[in-house]
Amino acid sequence: MKFVNLIDYEALETQFDHICEPITEITDEVVKFCHNLAQVMYDYDGIGVSAPQVGINKRIIIIDCSENKNETIYLINPEILWQSPKESQKKEGCLSYPGLVLPISRPQRIKVQGLDLNGKIIEFEATGLYARCIYHEIDHLNGISFTRRATRQVRRHLMRKWLKKHKNEQ
Ligand SMILES: [Zn+2]
Repeated sequence: MKFVNLIDYEALETQFDHICEPITEITDEVVKFCHNLAQVMYDYDGIGVSAPQVGINKRIIIIDCSENKNETIYLINPEILWQSPKESQKKEGCLSYPGLVLPISRPQRIKVQGLDLNGKIIEFEATGLYARCIYHEIDHLNGISFTRRATRQVRRHLMRKWLKKHKNEQ
């Protein structure tokens, strides 16, 4: 876990359906990796990131949905304990798909549990953007990108457009 940077979406997609491994011990190396991963999130102006997005298939997510970008939440081995049946649809993006924005339905409310950097269990309820972001990042840990949460029609239309543009820019 040395150099940390985003892998491209094609590399990420080879991991589709791959379930990331839990962290068994929070070593100094893990903590250092988490800090580096957070830095990637801030460097790219994201509000969330997961370890597989930098090519590390471990169950670590980081989010910061605060306005001033100064409330980093580290979640190791995060789990969704409960989710509201009620969903809301909002536009969503992902650091691994720069410029792609898709309308995605997600539960309005979730209850999450995970470990913090000290190995302490944290449990809380999240709503709105927080719920959406945490859900999106945990999806990554299970090999599911947000493109697969979009309706088929949306995916066909918007993905095709994005792919064309993305390929041209490369
Ligand atoms: Zn993402």
